[in-house]
Amino acid sequence: MERSFEREVQLLAKGEGEVVYAEGIVAVTKALLQSGVSYVGGYQGSPVSQLLDVLVQAREYLASLGVHVEACTNEAAAAAMLAASVNYPMRGAVTWKSIVGTNVASDALSNLASPGVMGGALIIVGEDYGEGSSVVQERTHAFAMKSSLCLLDPRPELQHVTGIVEHAFALSEAASTPVILQLRIRACHLQGTFVCKDNVAPALSSRDPSAPAPAFRANVMSHPPFTFEHERQKVESRMPAARRYIVEHALNEVFEGDIADVGIIVQGGIYNNLAGAMAIANFVDANGGSRIPTLVLNATYPLVPDEIVAFCADKRAVLVLEEGHPEFIEFELDALLARAGCRSAVRGKATMASAGEYTVERIVLGLERFADEFIPALSTAEVAAWRHDVDGVRARARELLGATVPARPPGFCVGCPERPVFSALKLVERKLGRRHVAADIGCHSFAMFEPFAIGNSITGYGMGLASAAAVGPVSLQRPLATVGDGGFWHNGFLSGVTSAIKNGTDAVLLIFKNGYTSATGTQELVSTPAAARRDAAGGASTTATDTTIEDVLRSVGVPWLRTVHSYDVKTMRATLGEAFTTSHKGLKVVVAEGECQLERQRRLRTERARAVQEHARAARVRYGIDEDICTGDRACIRLSGCPSLTLKPSSDPMRNDAVTTIDAGCVGCGLCGELAQTAALCPSFYRVEVVNEPSAWERFIASVRARVAQALLPA
Ligand code: SF4
Ligand code: SF4
Repeated sequence: MERSFEREVQLLAKGEGEVVYAEGIVAVTKALLQSGVSYVGGYQGSPVSQLLDVLVQAREYLASLGVHVEACTNEAAAAAMLAASVNYPMRGAVTWKSIVGTNVASDALSNLASPGVMGGALIIVGEDYGEGSSVVQERTHAFAMKSSLCLLDPRPELQHVTGIVEHAFALSEAASTPVILQLRIRACHLQGTFVCKDNVAPALSSRDPSAPAPAFRANVMSHPPFTFEHERQKVESRMPAARRYIVEHALNEVFEGDIADVGIIVQGGIYNNLAGAMAIANFVDANGGSRIPTLVLNATYPLVPDEIVAFCADKRAVLVLEEGHPEFIEFELDALLARAGCRSAVRGKATMASAGEYTVERIVLGLERFADEFIPALSTAEVAAWRHDVDGVRARARELLGATVPARPPGFCVGCPERPVFSALKLVERKLGRRHVAADIGCHSFAMFEPFAIGNSITGYGMGLASAAAVGPVSLQRPLATVGDGGFWHNGFLSGVTSAIKNGTDAVLLIFKNGYTSATGTQELVSTPAAARRDAAGGASTTATDTTIEDVLRSVGVPWLRTVHSYDVKTMRATLGEAFTTSHKGLKVVVAEGECQLERQRRLRTERARAVQEHARAARVRYGIDEDICTGDRACIRLSGCPSLTLKPSSDPMRNDAVTTIDAGCVGCGLCGELAQTAALCPSFYRVEVVNEPSAWERFIASVRARVAQALLPA
């Protein structure tokens, strides 16, 4: 796993009145235990990977409390886990990255929302939205609306967040409805303090398994005719109960201001950005509080009409700050104010921005427009001055960076085992031409960027092969689909491989088997080698044997299967070439095997540091380039794209073009040497071994070499 959460795990044991300084995800985890949760689970993904990582690493402590932890294979499995709360009075929480994870989980979510729950059921979604996002720009809000789930979006302040988590379980029980807690990246990684409470023992505990089989109740089955009754309950009792709870426990907050004839309605999750923007615009009073009254929606679904109308009743206009598209809250606000005969003008996307992240800057500009239209007495001079400054800084940055700093798209880590495979693919393309490549989610999707520029579609996690199904029959060239081992287990095996076998799909599947779900923080898989799994889990692993992807593929009858070491470019090129041209019809699978370099380096660094400390031998490999031989054609850079391959001025005064060089980041993966041979590049690469505490023989050989080299130098 990416990092140790030893400190965070210790914080989970803090008791009543103790003050903790931590990240948002730790506050949420602690609040789960303070709420008497019986079981937790989930599937990793930004920005809640660490939430699941903390839970998994805290497995031993949670077991001592009687809390069961499950690292699920995908989000659907995590959502299905919540079914425990349908029949038992037990509280449970699961987590995943949204929107993608919620898409995967939506079948289970619909069928969970239909009968509703007895014990509190909480879904913590990391809303990976906006400019730093790695997923499509959509909203969890739509799922809450369509399935009648409650949606909480807490104001990012850690004490407040812990309180909202505790309320979420009570709300879920009061409304017999699963609750979604939306955690934006701003809340997940927010640092701050909160005062703890004692952890609460779960009502049903894995320490004392005593739950009898539940009585048969046909009406909790998500099946007609009971689903018709479920629908009626959602409308007539559950959502009204949710609204009552929201009002009675003041989940939404009103911050008063002296400019009382206008107001702002904001999603809780972006409140801090609003506060920052208010300060910049100087729309604040002497205490730093907003001068414009603000309704903070910590519960964004369902809205409470009476609460909204009461806030808007004495206001000429309200500005709705609702991040994401479409503007569900704004639409609903328009409708419910019209129904209530309230004449407040509603401004939202038209004043703010129709799409995109609500950064502080964007909110400042929206506030300026709103003030110009409705609060002429409020000076926007500070905003104009600030905007002028920001534009100036931006122009200067463009001037300084534009000419000298090239665009840096995301790319593979130095030494990544996936890079050589795409280098091999480029070499195959030179001979056989381009073909349709159905790409997938994972580190390998970086191949879409230069120097590879490989990939024609991304359809979802593990969906590459399935997305090529209709391409093959109309293509001259056999299509290629890529998938990582994370995607393979998440969805790729069922949606892609078994479907291809059933339909006799004539395609090539390239599986990157690096041992972990690397892109989300190197979490373990069912196929992570057992030895590594035991190490990472601190002895907690229950599986002692290796499950290999190849065994699973053979078990479903994949007839053409090859495993090739990722860095063996020559064999990879030949194998891919064979897969693309063989007369064998049907699915052909190439497994590219090479451990995630990031994880490998973490392991090696620790081993090396230990060896150096103990004065034991430790060696590391580096590659270099002889600048006298470098022809300067940059073929090596174009074929590998390793960030360690860069340029420097030549030290030869007779040469005015730059030469290629390898910087100190090289991890000695060997790709440079491989490519130089396989692609017949200029022979300028050399390999060195840096050895700490060399043996007597190594010292002797080194001294002989040094003397020979000295003798060969011109006098
Ligand atoms: S995390 Fe691992 S698999 Fe992903 S790019 Fe880095 S080295 Fe490659
Ligand atoms: S050997 Fe080459 S490709 Fe591998 S890390 Fe070093 S510079 Fe990068």
